Amino acid sequence: MKLKIGHLYPELFNLYGDRGNVRCLEKRLQWRGIDAEIISLAVGERIDFTDLDIVCWGGCSDRESELAAKYLTGICRDFKAYVEDGGCVLAICAAYQLLGDYYETDRGKTEGLGILDIYTKWAPERLVGNIVLKSELVPMPVVGFENHSGRTFIGGYSPFGTVSSGHGNTENDDYEGLIYKNVIATYLHGPLLPKNPQICDLILKRALQRRYNTDIILETLPDEAEHKANHQIVIRFPT
Ligand code: GLN
Repeated sequence: MKLKIGHLYPELFNLYGDRGNVRCLEKRLQWRGIDAEIISLAVGERIDFTDLDIVCWGGCSDRESELAAKYLTGICRDFKAYVEDGGCVLAICAAYQLLGDYYETDRGKTEGLGILDIYTKWAPERLVGNIVLKSELVPMPVVGFENHSGRTFIGGYSPFGTVSSGHGNTENDDYEGLIYKNVIATYLHGPLLPKNPQICDLILKRALQRRYNTDIILETLPDEAEHKANHQIVIRFPT
């Protein structure tokens, strides 16, 4: 078996080490004897989303979002079709924002892909720090680091998690990120996946199920180090 992981715009969207999510997906496949092909997708490049199993898209500054936004119209139709067909997406921070309709900052309005009916508004005080969530997707707490000016309003979508410690989508509600079909969109950097192996495996399981049209049972990995790293954050930032 093999999965193809599209790494979207790594040259612009990797301000917080989010490429570590791609490496984590790749290693947790390889450790199970499953092939992984990483496809780096540059800004402006034509993308065949039907050939991908997972799309990983990281975070960046407002300026990089503005630069990349000009190219989003070229991928919008196919990316939306991929999402609606159950394609797996992990979108971190700026990527999360750009899946929505727009990100309005003090520099103007950056149009997003409109794949999700959400919007983001800038505020001067950044929401920064370690964050701990409870997510309906996995039993373990989800830990990460957030650093964003944008406040994202998700309407009726299910959140990725409820905030046990930290800020989340805005400083005024208890929700963080969102889930829609096989899209996980979140503000959590870290990178997210190494300290949250259950989220990583959930994405892999869903992508394998979609590609091979069968329920895949993933071999259990010795995750002592991952669980210890996760727990160190949980005990430092009690709810
Ligand atoms: N520039 C966006 C913001 O500040 C996203 C930041 C990020 O990707 N961490 O909200």
